[in-house]
Amino acid sequence: MRKKVVVLGATGSIGKNAALELAAYPELFEVVGLAARSNIDELARQAHIFHPARVATTDPARLAALEAKLPAGCKACYGEEALIDMVTSPKVDIVLCAIIGVGGIHPVLRALECGKRVALASKEVLCMAGELVMSKAKSIPGAEIIPVDSEHSGIFQCLAGRRPDEITRLWLTASGGPFRSWTKEQIENASLEDALKHPTWSMGAKITIDSASMMNKALELVEARYLFDVPGEKLGAVIEPHSTVHALVELADGSTIAQLAVPDMRLPIRYALSYPERLAGKPEKFDFAALSKIEFIPVDNGKFPSLEFARYAISCGGTMPAVMNAANETAVERFRRGEIKFSHIWKIVRKTMEQHTAEPQQSIEQLENADKEARIFAGSVVC
Ligand code: NDP
Ligand code: MG
Repeated sequence: MRKKVVVLGATGSIGKNAALELAAYPELFEVVGLAARSNIDELARQAHIFHPARVATTDPARLAALEAKLPAGCKACYGEEALIDMVTSPKVDIVLCAIIGVGGIHPVLRALECGKRVALASKEVLCMAGELVMSKAKSIPGAEIIPVDSEHSGIFQCLAGRRPDEITRLWLTASGGPFRSWTKEQIENASLEDALKHPTWSMGAKITIDSASMMNKALELVEARYLFDVPGEKLGAVIEPHSTVHALVELADGSTIAQLAVPDMRLPIRYALSYPERLAGKPEKFDFAALSKIEFIPVDNGKFPSLEFARYAISCGGTMPAVMNAANETAVERFRRGEIKFSHIWKIVRKTMEQHTAEPQQSIEQLENADKEARIFAGSVVC
């Protein structure tokens, strides 16, 4: 029986890598739905490869253009409701969510409510509503979240077969981004072009900027806190500049298990689709002879305050991680529009978190309100 898959955010960097994976194993996976927002040409290109029953855009203005490009038998639809219809269909087995930001939150929650596997790339979803999302994933039969984020996939792989009481610490590695060896003064005035030059990974623009500010690692610490249900004290982040070691798990007996692989998102995407099976295929196996060294370097919190924000958000819990995420998304948009300097991203995140009083997570509406208010505040911070 082929697994039926829906891909949300199909036109992005993760979405296109997922398409390569899904096309590589036609005997195992059947794509039954594709969704994105504006890139109609890419949606249509994938529709001609996979012939899914439905293809959705969240932008109603693009529906007619999409409809005109789809192959026969493939229905065009629009809006968040269309995404929810797709992921809740009883025929669907796996929902891969790779929508940038929190736009996938409702489809993810609904897919979990219907007992689906969610292969989750969108870390912002767990950052915004980690407790609610994980409580659904744990309590609903069949529902599960398999991480796509490479570090979390690495931890997930290292944790296989281990009991929680055997785990001492989880480590996420970071490349350090393009500004790792820049001075504080240089970083302050870094341009958008500088921030988009990631040394090791090829990714979408927003996550590439997050990697440069290390807000990506901040979001990932929060993601790990909820995904693996560990307290902040058991989470660490360390720089491994070659992006070869993706995660480390320290065990009670003093052993540390690491996950190594070439920096290629196809690998964690494949594992999230095939878990617990391991499928052969590209990327090629790791060439250990060519690996000259592995270095671990501490994060310079003086230059990159992001991890402190994550630690504060984790210690407050409740609505605070959602506020950190919303402030960061807004600040990154402002930086991309040329409104603020690079270092103002941190100023905006800090000020937005400082003015917020965390409340325990109760409902998605409450988190959406906290997110909305944080975006308004972050949008108005004068830099
Ligand atoms: P991209 O910017 O490359 O792609 C984003 C995707 O989301 C596009 O398909 C875009 O559609 C779609 N999208 C955006 N807004 C909406 C919306 N409102 N409704 C529906 N679709 C929408 O992002 P990435 O692929 O780089 O990242 C996706 C997620 O995966 C992020 O959360 C990121 O943090 C995470 N991630 C990414 C990694 C990577 O290697 N890229 C690694 C680890 C995690 P369109 O372009 O058609 O408008
Ligand atoms: Mg990552």
